[in-house]
Amino acid sequence: MILTACEHCGGELRRAGIGRPQRFCSTRCRVASHRARRAVPAEIRGRDRWVRRSADKVPLRADTGRPASSTDPATWTTHAAAAASPHGAGLGYVLADGDDIVVLDLDHCLSGGRLAPWAARILAACPPTYAEVSPSGTGLHIWGRGRLARGRRIRRQDGAAIEAYSDGRYIALGHRYADAPLELADLSEVLADLL
Ligand SMILES: [Zn+2]
Repeated sequence: MILTACEHCGGELRRAGIGRPQRFCSTRCRVASHRARRAVPAEIRGRDRWVRRSADKVPLRADTGRPASSTDPATWTTHAAAAASPHGAGLGYVLADGDDIVVLDLDHCLSGGRLAPWAARILAACPPTYAEVSPSGTGLHIWGRGRLARGRRIRRQDGAAIEAYSDGRYIALGHRYADAPLELADLSEVLADLL
């Protein structure tokens, strides 16, 4: 009887006796899964907009670990340099003016890996595009191309916060949501409907 499936390939998990339940069928699947969770679209990986972030989401310079600024490019670096940095608790990405990259930030929409219906509706309204789970594990960041007329805008739906950012702001990255595509779609229409 298959009790659970490998989280990466869906294959059968052999029971290894008493102990913690396994999540992957093999070391290969464990490594591949972690790599997939860290994958980011080339469109943002290729830009020098990367910083580190502290556990409490303060942006940090990858080279020194000192605070970074979302308006000072001298405090940003490449994805490779930020990924290799020992400082802080993870990665951050700066949304810089003129890049036309936009992030929809949906707070408190994930619980136990389940997306709340209001957030699922928004994600479904978007063309296939990159999305990631916030560092807290309870929020969703939907990434795409677009521009906001007035930078950050906020709307509340069903008592939940929806925010959108396009410049002068940094995003604390968590990990890729499910099998979200590693590309950014044009979110202009979705933003026009939503905001
Ligand atoms: Zn597997």
